[in-house]
Amino acid sequence: MNYTFGPINSRRFGLSLGIDLSPDSKSCNFDCLYCELEAAKPIDKITNPPCIEDIIKDVQNALLKEPNIEVITITSNGEPTLYNELDTLVDELNKIKEDKKLLILSNASLIINPNIQATLQKIDIVKLSLDCATQKCFKKIDRPLKGIEVSDIIDGIKTFSKSFIHDLIIEVLVVKGVNDKEEEMDALNLVLKDINPCRIDLGTIDRPPAFDVQAVSSETLKNLSSHFIGLPISIIHKEQPKTRIDLSEEAIIHTIKRRPQSQSDVDYLFSEHSKQNLQKLLDKKEILKQKIAGVVFYSDITRLSSKSK
Ligand code: SF4
Repeated sequence: MNYTFGPINSRRFGLSLGIDLSPDSKSCNFDCLYCELEAAKPIDKITNPPCIEDIIKDVQNALLKEPNIEVITITSNGEPTLYNELDTLVDELNKIKEDKKLLILSNASLIINPNIQATLQKIDIVKLSLDCATQKCFKKIDRPLKGIEVSDIIDGIKTFSKSFIHDLIIEVLVVKGVNDKEEEMDALNLVLKDINPCRIDLGTIDRPPAFDVQAVSSETLKNLSSHFIGLPISIIHKEQPKTRIDLSEEAIIHTIKRRPQSQSDVDYLFSEHSKQNLQKLLDKKEILKQKIAGVVFYSDITRLSSKSK
């Protein structure tokens, strides 16, 4: 069996080679409404996990075949931090990755555990999901294994983010009628301000979900993003906009002072005239263009991110 997949050209991370730690079946301690895999009872172990030697062999072969791979992504048909030997695997991958970055996609369920935090510290890009900040909403959308509390997840992420020197990304996935309410976004905003991730990915369902739930529109995502004041949000736009907006130089500065705009926001929202004004501001060095964990953002010149790459 091959434990790698891809490489896939990801807009957010570049050319990515995936490692699947649960190739047999879904092994997850959540059963999210929006999961792209089939609904399954949450469990706390990976069923039939692969051994490290086989994974490393597969990664080495893949890197030989495709030397342009930019990111090695630890993921799973479920939750990768359930893999018992994750710490050793990360050490082994760091030995062979050379100039590639190591990325993990996790649901953050075990982040309160200091051992998991110590392992994640050794990874270049850590992407954690956090869909809600209240237990009621969390239970409804992520359907976790009994005993998993969102307050522990939040405390764990806060502690982790204080000492993590690489790129921490928080992903928020919005489901219509579940976590798209203003009060949920406000509660999340308070938490995210404390966490201060280098990037927040705000998206919605874009593949057939495990349960009968619906996506929100790009317009709703844009409106919800206004709750995250000052934070670098990358909205994952799925639809083409009906109209693009004309912004003066002054209006652009005002907009990015409120919230840095990602390249995807600019492509999605800005008219040609707005893009020309954006370029003028860049030429005059009145705004800043910076790459945050692979995504280009335009931000206020006074807002230099120490974590930007
Ligand atoms: S955490 Fe990921 S794999 Fe697990 S149920 Fe949710 S979406 Fe699916």
